[in-house]
Amino acid sequence: MKDLRNILANPEYKKLCVNFTEKHIKNKNSKNLQLISQNKKPEFGGEWSRKLKPKLVSLLESRCSVCERRISHSDSNADVIEHYRPKAHYWWLAYDYENYLFACSTCNLAKSDVFPLYANKEKVNYLNKNEIINEKPLLINPFFENPYKYFELFFSNYSGSRKYNVIKLSVNPELTDDYEIQKSKKTIEVYNLDLHKKEEKYRTEQIFDFTEFCKKLLPYAMELDFRKKIMFKAWQNRNKEPETLKQAEKEYKEYLEKLKNEQSNEIAKTGYWQLIVLEQYKTIITP
Ligand SMILES: [Zn+2]
Repeated sequence: MKDLRNILANPEYKKLCVNFTEKHIKNKNSKNLQLISQNKKPEFGGEWSRKLKPKLVSLLESRCSVCERRISHSDSNADVIEHYRPKAHYWWLAYDYENYLFACSTCNLAKSDVFPLYANKEKVNYLNKNEIINEKPLLINPFFENPYKYFELFFSNYSGSRKYNVIKLSVNPELTDDYEIQKSKKTIEVYNLDLHKKEEKYRTEQIFDFTEFCKKLLPYAMELDFRKKIMFKAWQNRNKEPETLKQAEKEYKEYLEKLKNEQSNEIAKTGYWQLIVLEQYKTIITP
């Protein structure tokens, strides 16, 4: 699952959504807007969101926000925009871009109109809609929170006839809050995120992406190692040449800063599964 908080904060995203809604929905689905303004539930077709989704897909690095599967251009045209709170119940949020979610057709289908709340509480309805902020949904919304803290991910050896490793996804054992634990569990269950149950093609793709990501990081790690050696040499000569040490330290710090930025760009491009794995195996380069 991808952290999409930066997308929601991106003015380009808001502009695209709002402009599109105004142009297409007001012209072609004005009846629906009218019904919503009269507190009545409209009938929704998927046409409008099929047109909007391809415009937004590049902002989302062409990946499913839930399972991080790569979405090809033709898929994105075929898929409709998912709603975090399903429009079957929360119909007044159908055109609210803060309620959109971008999922591949598999995740979209798996979730459908499911929207469980903590402790089986009743969903708010239109009449008490302001109480929505008190709802405790059991599905992670990557537009509003970092999904990264909820999961633990393993690339484990698979002893069967297949050559690749199996990816296993489970609840992060470091979670202590019961609501968060339940939320992680339910998200995995609803979207079928337990990856080793997913089809072979999907797992192979995830492992390929991860390997590519590690390959990209390798030159940075080597450069960092080289600079550490320079700094150590300067430290050994610190009494004779204090200025050389200062300079080496400065350059090392600057490089780390650059590295952090490059890494976060790579992570944004690929996804968060990789980050979780790197954290678990302590291979991520941190200052
Ligand atoms: Zn997906």
